[in-house]
Amino acid sequence: MPFNEIIGHAKVISMLRQLIRQDRLPHALLFTGPDGIGKRLTAFGLAKALLCEKSNNDYCNLCASCHKINQGNHPDVTIIQPEGNSIKIEQLRDWQRSLGSRSYSGSWRITIIDQAERISNSAANSILKILEEPPEDTLICLITVEDRDILPTIVSRCQILRFSPLSRSDFVQIIMKRCQLTESQALLIYNLSKGQLSKGLAMDYNNLLNLRKQWRQFFGSSTLNEKSYSQIDKASLCDGLEIIAHWWRDVILLQFGIDDSSLTNQDMICEIKKEAIETTQPLVKSRINLVLQTLDALERNANPKMAIDSLLLQWDNISF
Ligand SMILES: [Zn+2]
Repeated sequence: MPFNEIIGHAKVISMLRQLIRQDRLPHALLFTGPDGIGKRLTAFGLAKALLCEKSNNDYCNLCASCHKINQGNHPDVTIIQPEGNSIKIEQLRDWQRSLGSRSYSGSWRITIIDQAERISNSAANSILKILEEPPEDTLICLITVEDRDILPTIVSRCQILRFSPLSRSDFVQIIMKRCQLTESQALLIYNLSKGQLSKGLAMDYNNLLNLRKQWRQFFGSSTLNEKSYSQIDKASLCDGLEIIAHWWRDVILLQFGIDDSSLTNQDMICEIKKEAIETTQPLVKSRINLVLQTLDALERNANPKMAIDSLLLQWDNISF
């Protein structure tokens, strides 16, 4: 997958290609931007472009070097990521030693440090020493969400490249391609994952449809059955509530006369139109608020059963 197949981030990629072409790559880059939008993919692309046997300023994904990087076993490419909660000094020993000798390919040595905000203090000192006197042809690429979460002494030695969130159309294109989904199916995933690509890619479309059906039935019955939620785990509860919140958001958008192309549940427009006619705006608003309050409580570590007990208690007051 050469650079032009990475969707979004055209500006960052063009800058990287220019730095390679002009032989002006610094020894340390810091990629910042929201989770799951392609920073890691771009860092791997950069490593491949520097070591590719066939392409200049790009990569082919076919040569032995690209293949080894994709497999995670290129001797000149090191990936460092947290073990447990942090990146520890013990993890860096072999890496530091390898920087003392010549590279395997006679070209660049690239180190990708993922979740760099988790570098422990002792590890930070050792990385800092390398950044102060970097061995020749060594590139260290740190990846994080916010540069303010990293020691300023490290940040000041890196060139920062900021990644913007993916646009809705870029996100939908990626999901359609990688998950073999239609545009309306990919739009459901875009909305439910709040534009976080890694979250969206981990979602199973059929599972989402099942969850949506279950939770619509749950809230649609006249008496809510306690047995159906007593065993529920927090993640499924949050997913279910997110889905139902989006459903009612669609209902209220139609009640306000918004065009149906902005709806999340593109595959259920007829049912949503029916519900928009049969319910009142204040009722739908109260339902959305209640679900959002419950999601908020769950995010603050409320017990799932207690959170839903409280929701159902208030549900009776607003629904009947
Ligand atoms: Zn290649």
